[in-house]
Amino acid sequence: MYPPGSHGDMNLSYTSSEAGPSQSDPEYIVVGAGLAGLAAAVTLHRAGREVALLERDDSVGGRVRTDIESGFVLDRGFQVLLTTYPELGRHLDLASLNLRPFIRGANVWDAGRFVELAHPRSSFRGALNALRTGAFTPGDRFRLLKFGVRLGRSKHLLMTPADDCPTGELLERLGFSSHSMMTFWEPLLSGIQLTSSLEGSARLASLILRCLARGPAAVPAEGMQAIPRQMASNLPANVIRLRTEVEAIHGSKLLLTGGEELSARRVVIATEQRTAARLLREEPRSTRSQWHAYFGADEAPNDSRAIHLMAAGQGPCRNLAIMSNVAPEYAPHGKALIVVAGPTTDAEPPLTQVRQQLQSVFGSQTESWQLLKAGVVAEAQPTFVPGTPLVRQQQLGNFLIAGDHQATPSIQGALVSGRVAAHAAIAE
Ligand SMILES: Cc1cc2nc3c(=O)[nH]c(=O)nc-3n(C[C@H](O)[C@H](O)[C@H](O)COP(=O)(O)OP(=O)(O)OC[C@H]3O[C@@H](n4cnc5c(N)ncnc54)[C@H](O)[C@@H]3O)c2cc1C
Repeated sequence: MYPPGSHGDMNLSYTSSEAGPSQSDPEYIVVGAGLAGLAAAVTLHRAGREVALLERDDSVGGRVRTDIESGFVLDRGFQVLLTTYPELGRHLDLASLNLRPFIRGANVWDAGRFVELAHPRSSFRGALNALRTGAFTPGDRFRLLKFGVRLGRSKHLLMTPADDCPTGELLERLGFSSHSMMTFWEPLLSGIQLTSSLEGSARLASLILRCLARGPAAVPAEGMQAIPRQMASNLPANVIRLRTEVEAIHGSKLLLTGGEELSARRVVIATEQRTAARLLREEPRSTRSQWHAYFGADEAPNDSRAIHLMAAGQGPCRNLAIMSNVAPEYAPHGKALIVVAGPTTDAEPPLTQVRQQLQSVFGSQTESWQLLKAGVVAEAQPTFVPGTPLVRQQQLGNFLIAGDHQATPSIQGALVSGRVAAHAAIAE
């Protein structure tokens, strides 16, 4: 057994006195079929290793799940794929995902209306607006351009982990106006990082902004769960064991709910951080939550394919997207699907304030919008404080740890962590 909190970040060793794997046990076991576990299992399988992937739920995907309700495609929380995440090419066939891209830009609420600002390659109208909007001062426009060029060229995301700081501090240092912070930067980055303001890591923000500058965010036509489903399709059918929960770790063995015991040469624990901490007898780290609400409407409130940004002072909504403008497959014919979301520390979505905010933005048409689904995704992302390394490789004896909590709290981070853990397991 591991004493609580007995390891730091790297390669601590543990020697088990228990018996090793029996002949019927698989060579490698991965626990958790979220993106990290799938990346680990597929990496091991491609390397010719025998692997079993154990998943507690009835489906793969972990936090990337989709429900179909009355013909609407409802992801579990508002989330998008940044199509230029560097890790995607190793794991996904993007062409087969039928990606539906958002406009490369944002629809910014300023002076009582939304203004679509966009990259010239994405929308001519949006690019013209970007030159004229009051959301940015002329100085902000110049700084944005310079920031974009620096981000594109920098190998190290502008700073080392030791120099990392809160994002707001970096943006202030770069000279952005307080108006642009309120209307653009804060709703953009707090919506992605699920922070209450701009306290998240500037390095992580730089990574996200660099991806956004290089290509669009998108959703698969069939919903976000198409991503893990495609990864699972790269594994032989008998590799994945659904409804199989690891209850505890006894020495080098996994005890499953129901009493079965399994062991393997190497085990990759790819659960979310709270379960990994319980299994490994550590203190769980802090996490961030997202509330979201989906509305069905007879008509879309506008024709924008951009993510709408709403300032913090205005109400609980930070991000809004008219999903059916982006991916018509997300709504039945003749209907529109609107999602709103924001960071939260509460257990319930702030629906009354959301309704009020939507009405103040889009007027009385929102009264006929039908609430399809609302909720809070608790522990949506592990907290990533300034100075956190972009990827860690943690090992305890024959257990390797993967998951977005070992890298960045994102699809990119989950995929990287799974691959890194699998390579470490193979290298042993
Ligand atoms: C609402 C929301 C919005 C997000 N927005 C974005 C976004 O826009 N872009 C982006 O890049 N990222 C976003 N993310 C983050 C991204 O989804 C996650 O970082 C990523 O999916 C984490 O994958 P994972 O494999 O590390 O963990 P998980 O997806 O949590 O997978 C862990 C798996 O382990 C299984 N498991 C747990 N315990 C056990 C056990 N004891 N035995 C067996 N199996 C077990 C779980 O059932 C689960 O399937 C968002 C996340 C949420 C929730």
